[in-house]
Amino acid sequence: MLLGILKESALGETRVALLPESFNSLLAQGIHISVESGAGAAAGAPDEAYVQAGATVTANRASILANADLLPLVNAPSSGDQAQLKPGAIVIGFLKPLDAPHALDEAIARSVTLFSMELIPRISRAQSMDALSSMATVAGYKAVIAAADRLPRLFPMLMTAAGTIAPARVFVIGAGVAGLQAIATARRLGAVVEAYDVRAAAGEQVRSLGAKFLDVDLGGISAEGGGGYAAELTEEALDRGRDLITRTAAHSDVIVTTAQVPGRPAPKLIRRQAVEAMRPASVLVDLAAPAGGNCELTRPGVEQNVDGVTLLAPLNLPAEVPVHASQLYARNILNFLALILKKGELTLDLADEVLAGACVAHDGKPVNPRVAKLLLTEMETGQLL
Ligand code: NAD
Repeated sequence: MLLGILKESALGETRVALLPESFNSLLAQGIHISVESGAGAAAGAPDEAYVQAGATVTANRASILANADLLPLVNAPSSGDQAQLKPGAIVIGFLKPLDAPHALDEAIARSVTLFSMELIPRISRAQSMDALSSMATVAGYKAVIAAADRLPRLFPMLMTAAGTIAPARVFVIGAGVAGLQAIATARRLGAVVEAYDVRAAAGEQVRSLGAKFLDVDLGGISAEGGGGYAAELTEEALDRGRDLITRTAAHSDVIVTTAQVPGRPAPKLIRRQAVEAMRPASVLVDLAAPAGGNCELTRPGVEQNVDGVTLLAPLNLPAEVPVHASQLYARNILNFLALILKKGELTLDLADEVLAGACVAHDGKPVNPRVAKLLLTEMETGQLL
């Protein structure tokens, strides 16, 4: 069996799906590994490290695409790459099947089995494969570092002979995986941190990190969706959050906003007035930018200056920390591979809850019910599969 590792082709992508340190268990099962030259260069893994770990390195991308039985990736393959895949191969990665299901048509038509890391059910058994959490952790950290770098102030309180400097005030919106990491990072840098989340359960985690949790009375509606996620709120409930955010923004130097509702556009929580109310030269990092952003002024991927406030809307912060982002992602991939590989042989049990949830398509047909429904609805509304 051949496992291929490609150099990611998406613009600005620096991560790699597997690092040389991940190879032992695969090689021990008799699996051959072929790596595209330069695949790990930005993630601290030069070609020589892959060779030393037991892989073959080649500049021939087409031969990897045509021969690999297993292809772990970071991002979805381009349609050009999909057209060269070996029929029946297995592709694993952040495939975005719910955002752009038809972007995978070519691979589905070639009977490639597609597993999407975003669709792995977030149950205890699959925690070690939870790449969304891994990348959110990296993004939460990097968002605070980016803000600290752009802020013309210091984060910690300093008591010097020249007088005392007040600590920076950081406001984190959405205390999920990314938000909690942002809080922890800002606290380590010495900032005073406040945080808001619609899920009351987040309060205890926020306080345990030494930050202040801001509560909003949502008028009795439940903000808890399934699996620890937030539910989509009514406009009235969202407005109560927006009012709190505008009030808190007025004394914040940095806002890091991460609020998301699975499968929905990011809630617009930060009004223009809130940005205008921030102190001069403040920084707002909108980590929800890939889902449209939490701020009504956000333009995903574009840095703006709004009346002196720097508004960052990064689309791929984990790619700015490629070594550790790749390390965490590679471990998630390895743990996933352990589910489908036994002694070097493929064992695809699509009755397994984790595999069935993550499987976009198998044997030319959609598997995950949400993806299947999306493809079917689009076919019914006249778009071609
Ligand atoms: P997410 O990225 O979907 O959302 C980020 C945060 O935004 C969440 O905390 C959410 O409550 C918050 N939010 C949504 N709408 C909001 C609004 N209108 N105002 C303010 N905040 C809003 O979520 P996530 O970070 O991926 O995960 C959230 C939670 O899911 C975690 O804290 C955890 O409890 C649970 N989780 C469980 C597992 C597991 O069991 N394997 C894995 C990961 C996460």
